[in-house]
Amino acid sequence: MNYKEIIEEVYQKIKSGDNKGKLATYIPELAKVNPNTFAVHLTTIDKQEYGIGEYEHKFSIQSIAKVLSLSLAFKIIGEKLWERLGVEPSGSSFDSLAVLELNNGIPRNPLVNAGAMVICDVLITHLTNPKEEFLEFIRDISGIHDLNYSAVIANSEKSAGYRNIALCNFIKSYGNILNSPEEVLDFYFSICSLEMSCRELSKTFLYLANDDFRTASNKKVLTMSQAKRINAIMQTCGFYNESGEFAFKVGLPGKSGVGGGIMAVHPNNYCIAVWSPKLNEKGNSYRGMKFLELFTTKTESSIF
Ligand code: GLN
Repeated sequence: MNYKEIIEEVYQKIKSGDNKGKLATYIPELAKVNPNTFAVHLTTIDKQEYGIGEYEHKFSIQSIAKVLSLSLAFKIIGEKLWERLGVEPSGSSFDSLAVLELNNGIPRNPLVNAGAMVICDVLITHLTNPKEEFLEFIRDISGIHDLNYSAVIANSEKSAGYRNIALCNFIKSYGNILNSPEEVLDFYFSICSLEMSCRELSKTFLYLANDDFRTASNKKVLTMSQAKRINAIMQTCGFYNESGEFAFKVGLPGKSGVGGGIMAVHPNNYCIAVWSPKLNEKGNSYRGMKFLELFTTKTESSIF
């Protein structure tokens, strides 16, 4: 498969089209990003890689990081995790309070904000230094030693994070947050502030594409069954109330973030990351969705 040629062709086509949508201005720092950046990077499981645009430029990966925190919590407590969270699509926005009330404080899945907060709570309970140990976990997976949080972005989100603060307190009122909401939110905002480039993303998430993946220190990240489950959750919940549409048009498990990034995995084949900061109404990258739709069409690599 000539990925290089197809990526180039699809990239030029999408770049010359419209760039609709809005930046995630509810996080003040994200409103400062250049809305015209557009980057793509693909890494295959046999380590061929190809990138175009600003694929080495680090950006705020936001909710894409929820897949990493979910992976660590799942690794630590296994199936017991599902006593605290569901695995059903929410059919609503990523920061919905209404759905949480209907489900008595049990988040629908680990990829909406409420679910990611419960995951943070689990990690705080089981780790001595959650922020440091989470960083060590993802540095080992990615082999990127300077991978880090952005204090500027975390503080920016915290300064205007009324909705997330409400969500965390709301879950606490149902008894499904065991630690203090302040501590959980602080960890949650840090995780969301992680900065990575498309190249780093497409290499890091190979652990969900390749059954033989080993970390920098030669460890397996998840069992095959756990990786399969995370891919299933990404497929059904990774794009909030646009998850059906993503499965329909792109046909890969993946995860978006309000920084405008999207990461998608083709099991046993490749991982691809796209970044374009303007978001559609569902909070997913406008150009990123379009790029991936055309890319999987041209490469005939939808998993369906
Ligand atoms: N930090 C963002 C928030 O909590 C993450 C949302 C997202 O990327 N979809 O609102």
